[in-house]
Amino acid sequence: MAGDVAESTSVAGAGLPKIAWGKGLVLTDVDGKHYLDGSGGPAVYCLGHGNEEVNQAIKDQLDRIAHGYRYNFTSDPLEELTERVGRLCGGTLKQMVFVSGGSEAVESALKLALQYFAARGEMSRRRFISRERSWHGNTLGALALSGFRERRLSFEGALVDVPLISPANVYRPPAGVAPEDVGAACAQELEDKILELGPDKVAAFVFEPVVGAAGGVVPAPPGYARKVREICDRHGVLMIADEVMCGAGRCGTWRALEHDGVFPDIMTVAKGLGGGYLPLGAAVYSDRVAEPINAVDGGPQTGHTFTGHTAACAAGVAVQRIVERDGLVQRVAVKGEEFKRILADALHGIAQIGDIRGRGFFTGIEIVADRDSKEPFPAEKALFLRIRARAFANGLICYPSGGNVDGIKGDTVILAPPYNATDGELSEIAGRFAVSLRQALKDIGA
Ligand code: PLP
Repeated sequence: MAGDVAESTSVAGAGLPKIAWGKGLVLTDVDGKHYLDGSGGPAVYCLGHGNEEVNQAIKDQLDRIAHGYRYNFTSDPLEELTERVGRLCGGTLKQMVFVSGGSEAVESALKLALQYFAARGEMSRRRFISRERSWHGNTLGALALSGFRERRLSFEGALVDVPLISPANVYRPPAGVAPEDVGAACAQELEDKILELGPDKVAAFVFEPVVGAAGGVVPAPPGYARKVREICDRHGVLMIADEVMCGAGRCGTWRALEHDGVFPDIMTVAKGLGGGYLPLGAAVYSDRVAEPINAVDGGPQTGHTFTGHTAACAAGVAVQRIVERDGLVQRVAVKGEEFKRILADALHGIAQIGDIRGRGFFTGIEIVADRDSKEPFPAEKALFLRIRARAFANGLICYPSGGNVDGIKGDTVILAPPYNATDGELSEIAGRFAVSLRQALKDIGA
């Protein structure tokens, strides 16, 4: 069994099945085995696989031009995507830099914040604050923000110093804090940290409105985001919402923070933006942030060879057109609640279910050795990897996370179905997951 776990999680590809086809929620490998995509891969495939409209839009764009270098040309897809995303975001989030994924989007957000203060002559504001049990990406800047100890270890010493404050996790509150006080206490921690560093030193606070990979889907409690907004405003600190995983409709609102009635100054979005059809992400920012940047420097000093890639933007336009036309974000809001109920029914009677949480089609399940004490299973049991291996064998793709995330050794699994998953598929995902979890628990003798 240990061998199975190692094989199924190899990042190099050894031992992994070879993918052949994808249609809707079903992936098929070259041996003809089918897998139901219960997590949209890593919460990416919002329309499932093989969507003909999206494929056709990309082919049509390729027939015209694949890539008109952004710093020589604008393009119809780039302009339409800018207009659409601006409209979907609402407020004054109208400016954007399109990049090739989440980490690049986060790097762009950090640079926009630094450039904003530089353009205002506030060169002392160079520091960022982020949170424990967070994941912002694998590039060095994004990794420096990320509270995910295991993934940082090899790079310590080369990462810029970013203070990490407590995440607003009601299931695992900071020591001595009652669950109902988590939002206020964690927001206060932000203010205390800003005051400790000196407000004139802090450029931005970066956080995931709903934590993804590092926490197994953790929505902040009501009121937290509003308090964070007030604190940032009080001290002139920019608020950066990393919506790479939780955004683009996944939580049942197009922006995750829409749920909280809050606008950030800068927001990142990626996975669901292009639905995985081509690599695409964006740093979206407000007119207020754009103003000094444009006035002093003529525009953002960030960008890459593939910034605003024409075919990738065409994919994003096609995906977002369908999401909007078919009312899929509203569907996710309604079906997400149903899915959580179906899942709770399927998992009923499993004593090791600690928590089922989430918003929309972004659902996290935390598995514990003891429900009362919330004690996790020993890390060496690698339960989260065994669940994934069992699910894979049962033809279900889920997204496990676990290991040592800032001192908390735990096992969580994310289910994040495509927005157009049918009722039957949602039931099938829940059923296969319950079977796989029971098998994995049996494997470790629980
Ligand atoms: N930010 C968040 C919240 C993420 O979940 C991720 C990836 O999982 C990233 C950033 C990095 O995105 P990418 O893997 O596309 O570089």
